[in-house]
Amino acid sequence: MALRPVNSLVRPLVARLHPYVPGEQPRIPGLIKLNTNENPYPPSPRVLKAVRAAVDGGLRLYPNPTAQALREKLAALHGCKPENLIVSNGSDELLALAVRCFVEPDHGWRQRGRNVVQFFSPSYSLYPVLADIHGATSNPVPLNLDFTLPEVGELKRGRRWVFGAGLTLVTTPNAPSGRGYPTAQLAEFCRAQQGLVLLDEAYVDFARENALELALKYPHVLVARTFSKAYSLCFQRVGYGVGHPDLIGALDKIRDSYNVNGLGQIAALATLEHLTYYRGNFRKIIATREWLAGELTELGFEVLPSQTNFLLARPPGRPASDWLAALRARKILVRWFDSPAVRDYLRITVGAQAEAAALVQAARAIVRSSG
Ligand code: PMP
Repeated sequence: MALRPVNSLVRPLVARLHPYVPGEQPRIPGLIKLNTNENPYPPSPRVLKAVRAAVDGGLRLYPNPTAQALREKLAALHGCKPENLIVSNGSDELLALAVRCFVEPDHGWRQRGRNVVQFFSPSYSLYPVLADIHGATSNPVPLNLDFTLPEVGELKRGRRWVFGAGLTLVTTPNAPSGRGYPTAQLAEFCRAQQGLVLLDEAYVDFARENALELALKYPHVLVARTFSKAYSLCFQRVGYGVGHPDLIGALDKIRDSYNVNGLGQIAALATLEHLTYYRGNFRKIIATREWLAGELTELGFEVLPSQTNFLLARPPGRPASDWLAALRARKILVRWFDSPAVRDYLRITVGAQAEAAALVQAARAIVRSSG
């Protein structure tokens, strides 16, 4: 029997898919890497010790399938129950699970928004990809021009917003703008929404406010958190979701049985044993962020206020894509997105103070050379 061509084995939806493009992870000696919002400070020595101690013959065993110890510790931290919590393989996995759990794929007849994955634009560029993978409809709705959140009344008048969307994702504070949204405004927004609302708080530890209380108050609201950014643990892939036990139970049904690797669980548990260390790092990063924003402003950048560990800044004099290349030539890697709302901006991770100082020095040299 003749074999089918290999390409024809792939579902058309997958063949057409434009995958998510993660930031580069180049291994260039001496490179200052300010492109993927990693934390410049290492995990606590206690975390490293706990992970090292766990690397033995026990690796042959499966890890705890529900991350029970971690969920108990997180529950104590957040004043909720372990039943309010699901741990995931990075918060990216939680976002994917939420799409699969709450959104119907497009069936081609009236679905009253159940097939809609809705989000503000610009925000995390993974969201539309998750909708595409699921065969659902994306509904990107523009933020205000200054990247603030539209009022509920405006959304009602605008007609683009789907109040019954199966899943509405709000990055708060937002990426790539860095803006924080007031919890009171998010609460009003959640109350107006009939479908599931997921508040993606990946960067919340660098913000003034968080909206965790909304996930414990409203049964249709989930909050997603991650150990990646604030807790220096990107490599280990641990995130979690907080919400009503029935939502958590539904997500639990569809995740892989051992979705969170054992060393990740151990590292995250040890992280929670040393929060003072991390809170010290948040303060340092926030201080560097404010210093960097001031310096870049003096050089002619238009810097948006940030509640995160990165800045969105419009550089002076030449296109942002040229700046990307000019900084790269000086061994500084930042991020540029080729999308209409942010094409004129660079997204710059706030590194350690010395890294930020090197960036300012390079930017000054580039400004001079174009003058
Ligand atoms: N949400 C946002 C807004 C992000 O920027 C990221 C990181 N790219 C994530 C979620 C996912 O992070 P992780 O999977 O490492 O937890």
